[in-house]
Amino acid sequence: MPVPRLEIDLDKIQHNAHTLVERLSKRGISVTGVTKATLGSPEIAHAMLQAGVCDLGDSRIKNIEVMRSSHVPARMSLIRSPMLSQATRVVTSTDVSFNTELEVVRSLSIEAQKLDRMHAVVLMVELGDLREGIMPADLMTTVRETLRLPNIVLKGIGTNLACRSGVSPEDSNMRELSRLARLIEVTFDISLETISGGNSANLQWAFSSASTGRINNLRLGESILLGCETLQRQVIDGLHTDAIKLVAEVIESKLKPTQPWGNLAQTAFGTGPAPTDHGTITQTILAVGIQDIDPCGLLPPKGTSILGSSSDHLIVTSTFDGVAVGAEMTFQLNYSALLRAMTSPFVTKSFKSTGNISSLSQTA
Ligand SMILES: *Cc1c(COP(=O)(O)O)cnc(C)c1O
Repeated sequence: MPVPRLEIDLDKIQHNAHTLVERLSKRGISVTGVTKATLGSPEIAHAMLQAGVCDLGDSRIKNIEVMRSSHVPARMSLIRSPMLSQATRVVTSTDVSFNTELEVVRSLSIEAQKLDRMHAVVLMVELGDLREGIMPADLMTTVRETLRLPNIVLKGIGTNLACRSGVSPEDSNMRELSRLARLIEVTFDISLETISGGNSANLQWAFSSASTGRINNLRLGESILLGCETLQRQVIDGLHTDAIKLVAEVIESKLKPTQPWGNLAQTAFGTGPAPTDHGTITQTILAVGIQDIDPCGLLPPKGTSILGSSSDHLIVTSTFDGVAVGAEMTFQLNYSALLRAMTSPFVTKSFKSTGNISSLSQTA
């Protein structure tokens, strides 16, 4: 099998998604499966849909277009505010987009009229994380304007926390979102279908809160793919954390000193920490690098630790002997490493599901 490769266990992903869908449905919350870390992989999208997610969400129109052209049978939401320059594509390929700028919604309205179709919007509200969102004080005006726009349906409101500033989703900010939803419904005499409370960082709140209020949707990516929540990166009970693994090949294995020699200046990526002398060790080089993964986001196998990296090399040492040239080594990944591996054309994506193995190399 080609290396480096991501080994993606679709059964485990489906299990993770299904477990979350079941647990959240007891709290009246549906799950939007977020595909953005998978480069719009139709295989992973299918696994999420099999598990019962209500729709799919992605931050990039390109990924949604890929899934559309692979005939992934789902409603799809663009969960990042659309670029004005992509309004036509957004109306063409998505059912819903998440919005924070009236100018953009107006443009979506114009494109939707041209294409003679309806486009649904979720208005995102800023609740403290300082990434995307309409300031609560401006929300009612934005809703009033949105409701006037031809071919636009206001599907609901949402918020996103714990991304830019790490603000935790909890009863106070979730209650605020519920309150705003009720206020919109009463003021404009409409009912909102979706109140989307957040992402994988909302899970602890969703499982433990006495009341989830009006929140009836979460958008989940990392927890489905990696099995953990994202506030403290705690493993979620019953979920697989090894659904996706990275396999790389050893291209050099030698005994080397831990101390470089010569005058030390900048490395390829600026200056690193000064090396400490641990005598001579087994130094192993794998053919994978910063172009393909985030070295800080790799969990090496037992007995192995990561010493350094450059664009094309990952340097490790192992307590066991004889890591032979040509041998393969397997790593677990965090979200950052996963994102980069998924988007690297040099990393083969190898999918496995009960009895089926298929490889998809984007280098071909
Ligand atoms: C990425 C993203 C998500 C999913 O976040 P995870 O932490 O992967 O669950 C949800 N909503 C928005 C707006 C996002 O950008």
